[in-house]
Amino acid sequence: MILTINCGSSTIKFQLFSADLSRVLARGAVNQIGEPGSHLSYRTNGRSLHDARPFPSHHEAFEASIAALLDPKHGAIKSIGEIEAVGHRAVHGADLFVESTLIDDEVIAKMEECVPLAPLHNPPNLIGIREARKLLPGVPQVAVFDTAFNQTLPPKAYLYALPYRFYQEHKIRKYGFHGTSVRFVSQRAAEVLGSPIAALKTVVCHLGNGVTMTAVDGGRAVDTTIGFATFGGVMMGTRSGDIDPGLIFHLNRALGLSLDEIERIIYRESGLLGLSGVSNDMRVVAEQAEAGNEHCRLAMEKFAYMVRGYIGSFAAAMGGINCLVFTAGIGENSPQIRAMACQGLEFLGIRVDEARNRAAVGGKEALPINPVGTSVPVLVVPTDEEKMIAMDTLRLALSGHPN
Ligand code: AMP
Repeated sequence: MILTINCGSSTIKFQLFSADLSRVLARGAVNQIGEPGSHLSYRTNGRSLHDARPFPSHHEAFEASIAALLDPKHGAIKSIGEIEAVGHRAVHGADLFVESTLIDDEVIAKMEECVPLAPLHNPPNLIGIREARKLLPGVPQVAVFDTAFNQTLPPKAYLYALPYRFYQEHKIRKYGFHGTSVRFVSQRAAEVLGSPIAALKTVVCHLGNGVTMTAVDGGRAVDTTIGFATFGGVMMGTRSGDIDPGLIFHLNRALGLSLDEIERIIYRESGLLGLSGVSNDMRVVAEQAEAGNEHCRLAMEKFAYMVRGYIGSFAAAMGGINCLVFTAGIGENSPQIRAMACQGLEFLGIRVDEARNRAAVGGKEALPINPVGTSVPVLVVPTDEEKMIAMDTLRLALSGHPN
C-alpha cells in the first residue's frame, strides 16, 4: 500500500492507497496542530473516527495518524509493514528538482536549501518527511514537488526583466505552483481524448481557492501565471492576482501603509473577498450576485475576465490551443464561471455547450463541455493531487534507487 502525506504548517493530511492505486483505503487529517482546537478526523470503509485532543506538535499528530491506520476497530491495516512506500507533497523544489525524487539525506539537504524560497511551506514538508522516516524506517519515501512540472518553462517565460544578477545570484524567477494538479489533469485530458499528449496544446485553468493557469505544450509546461511569490496571475479567494507593482510603492509612500500591511492586504484581503466585500468563497459570491449584489457580480466578472485573458495569452504563447481544461473547486463546480471565461473566445474555436456545461458539476469523471463537433475540446477534469503523488511514489519505489 502507498501512503501519501501532505504536511502543512498546522495540518497533516494523509491517504492510504491500495497497491494498484485503484482504491483509497483510508483518508484522514490532523488539523490545528499546536492550537487549542487540534483534532484528528479519519475515515475508512464507511467507518469514521474523530479525536479531539491536544496535538502539541507534528510528531504527536503523525503518531496518531499512523495509530488510526492501525486501530483494531477503525484501522485499514494490521501492521505497519503493509505500508510499502510513502509519497510526500513538497511545495518548493526551486531549480534543484525537475521531477519527483526518492528521498535520501542528500535530497533533504537540498530541500533545506529551498527553504528561503518557501519559508512557510517547506519547513512543515520537511517535518513530515523526518517523522515518516522515523516511524517507517527502511520504507522508500518520495518527494513530489509542486514546482517541478514548471521547470520546463523556457527562460523567456521564467525570467523577470530585472538585472540578470538577481536571477543568477538570488534565484529570482518565475517558479509556478499547483504543478502536480496541472500534470495530473493534462495527462487525464490526453487519456480521455485518446490523443498523444505530444499533439496537445492545452491551457489548464486550475481555479480553486488558489488559482493557476498553465500553458502545456506537448505535455510540457511552457508558461504559468503564478510567479516567484504566490499572489500573481488571476485573482484568487483572498489574493489580488496581477496588480501594477508600482501600487506597492504608492500604498507605502502616499498612503503610509507599512510593507507588512500591504502584504496582508494583497494576500488576505483582496481577490474575491476584496472586490465583493462579502466572501472569498465563490459559492457565496455567486449567490449574492444572483440576489442582486453589484459588487459580487463585478468580482465574478473580473475573475472570469482574468481567466479569459490568460487563455488568450497562452494560446498566443503556444501558437494555438487545441484543448482547454477546467479543474479544482471553482473549475469543477461553477458552470457560470466556465461559461463567462469562455465568452468571446469563438475566434479561437472555443465554445461551450450550455446543457453539457450545466451537467458537469462535482463529478468524478472528466467530461467534455464543448458542443459536439467543435474543434477545441473543453473539458472539466477533476483533479487528484494525492493520486498523482501516489503514482509517482509507486513508480519510483519500484525503480528502487534515487533518480
Ligand atoms: P479548492 O481550493 O480547489 O478546494 O477550491 C475551493 C474553491 O472552490 C472555493 O472558492 C469554493 O467557493 C469553490 N467552490 C466549491 N464548490 C463550488 C460550487 N459549487 N460553485 C462555485 N464554487 C465552488
